Amino acid sequence: MAQATNKNRFDLTGRVAIVTGAARGIGKALAIGLAEEGAAVVVNYAQAADRAAEVVKEIEAIGGRAIAIKADVSNEADVARLTAETITAFGQIDILVNNAGIIYPGNAEDYPLDSWRKTMATNLDGVFLMSRDVGRHMISRRTGSIITIGSMSGRIVNWPFRHAAYNVSKAGVHMLTKALATEWAEHNIRVNAIAPGYIRTELTDQVSKEHPDVVNQYWEKGAVQGRIGDVDELIGATVYLASDASSFTTGEIITIDGGLTLR
Ligand code: NAP
Repeated sequence: MAQATNKNRFDLTGRVAIVTGAARGIGKALAIGLAEEGAAVVVNYAQAADRAAEVVKEIEAIGGRAIAIKADVSNEADVARLTAETITAFGQIDILVNNAGIIYPGNAEDYPLDSWRKTMATNLDGVFLMSRDVGRHMISRRTGSIITIGSMSGRIVNWPFRHAAYNVSKAGVHMLTKALATEWAEHNIRVNAIAPGYIRTELTDQVSKEHPDVVNQYWEKGAVQGRIGDVDELIGATVYLASDASSFTTGEIITIDGGLTLR
């Protein structure tokens, strides 16, 4: 049996993390959560420069180190620059959180090809490109943890709102997680995903305003815990997967959905 120890296995002091799409919502919470455990954080954003700067300030206010870098994760040149600028600023990358994601709802029979392609470009190509470029750096250092924010929508078909493209993109990143975990275990890199259920963000607040009955019946009552989750409720699993506490965990998809997918 393992000996009791005072070592904090969740400590991220000295580690460097990139969180994509970290200017708001889940990404912002995860960036701050990683900084609270000691990691220096790159707050990536696509458009929201002011909000990203605010997140940097929040991290600095708690004594952490952070910088904001603009980059579109679906753009190969942007991803290469984001990776290079992070290494220039902080010397290394230990943790990558692939959080940036978009959703365009719509019935499949009327769904525009352009919306399908945009969804895949950010949700699937973006995760591949970020993982590939940061993974190459991690391979050279023989250490690293990659965490992708997938979705319960990669496991089940949400109802009554329809968004087949989003479901397919999230199922894709779950399989990409398993494939990369398998390829890169020999380089001491772990690759995992988190599959959240309904989490309160600006995006879901808007849906709650427009369709309160659907949200109550399907999102809140659908979860055995009877509610929507908070962004902060994803921090624990992210810190776990980023840290040495999860040293024997790879290729795993951790569902955090208040039990919605249980029934
Ligand atoms: P959100 O509030 O809409 O935030 C998404 C962030 O992604 C935005 O800050 C946006 O940046 C960034 N982004 C979008 N496209 C980008 C691109 N091409 N390159 C770089 N950044 C980009 O979304 P959220 O609700 O926090 O969701 C975050 C992740 O969790 C997504 O992957 C989503 O699919 C997943 N998820 C969410 C829920 C939920 O209930 N909220 C449930 C399951 C999974 P800018 O603001 O700079 O444009």
